[in-house]
Order: sequence, then C-alpha cells, then structure tokens
Amino acid sequence: MAIISCPRCAKKISDKSQTCQHCQLDMTGMSAERKHHLAIEARDKKMQGALNQSMLALILFLAGFCFLYFWALEPDGYEAIVSQGMIAAGFLWYIYARARLIYLKRKN
Ligand SMILES: [Zn+2]
Repeated sequence: MAIISCPRCAKKISDKSQTCQHCQLDMTGMSAERKHHLAIEARDKKMQGALNQSMLALILFLAGFCFLYFWALEPDGYEAIVSQGMIAAGFLWYIYARARLIYLKRKN
C-alpha cells in the first residue's frame, strides 16, 4: 500500500482506496490521464484563489490609503485608526497571498 495525493483535493490517501475520504471523489475506473487532468484543475483553482486574494488585499491596502488621506482628517480620530488598520491588514494579507502563490508555483 502506498500513500498518494488525491487528484482533486491533494490530500494524502491510500492508493488502494477507490474514494477519497476527504472530498469523496470516486476514482473507480478512473484513468491516469483523468486523474492528472483533475490534479491540474485543482492546482489552477488554488492558484487563481491566491491571485484573487492578493488582488483583494491590494484593494484593501489602497482603500486604506485613500481613506487616510481623503477622509480621516483628524490624526487621532477613529477614522485614522480604521484606515491604518486597513493598510496593515491589506499589506499582511497581500504578503501572505503572494507567498502562497510562490509556494504553489514551486510545489508543481
Ligand atoms: Zn480528495
């Protein structure tokens, strides 16, 4: 018995099992080509998700800047704190999403 990656969810499963216990993918009679195709689809979906996340993070980051300069006129007001929070969260989220994208690219 060997441990392989599920073609759809990429979690570890036994090569003897016909169904993935994580995502319930039925592999009965599935060809190697079909499994490979599913694995590529799953990877592309994950990469697209990470790319979308990095775009959202960038928008949050930029929106934080816009609020800080055009809306939060009082430096100690709660608007300034909210803006700075958006900038910080957007920045960290962006770094995380980019790092995930690089990791996914390297893995394949
Ligand atoms: Zn699975």
